[in-house]
Amino acid sequence: MPSKKQHSEVGASLGLKEYEKWTKTQGRPGNLAEAIICLAIGGWAAELPDRIEPGTSPDHRGLAHSYELQFILGRFLDDLSNKDDQDFSDLLRQIGLKGYGSHLSMDQRTPKGLFSAIGNFLERLLDRIAK
Ligand SMILES: [Zn+2]
Repeated sequence: MPSKKQHSEVGASLGLKEYEKWTKTQGRPGNLAEAIICLAIGGWAAELPDRIEPGTSPDHRGLAHSYELQFILGRFLDDLSNKDDQDFSDLLRQIGLKGYGSHLSMDQRTPKGLFSAIGNFLERLLDRIAK
């Protein structure tokens, strides 16, 4: 299970890279304050799933750590990515979504994987039918 520090570092690094990419697309130099904000948002967002569902055991993963939420985040990211005129607040939203998504991607690669609300529902349904 990745540690809080690992999640945070990946998210912060992602925030900084997204900021660098954004300044290039905007055709302007970056500034330290904006870079720090992007780094902080990325790090914070990458810790968020475990703040909602603290990693006290391998079974702590619920909706905040689910494949369904990962899918929904991906849809929001697609919508944001298709905007040609991204402003700084769009960039922050994108970093937040990607930071959160980075946490899910890292947890997905663990033996326990992510929670599946649909899978859980189908499992319970099949159990009831079998009884
Ligand atoms: Zn987690």
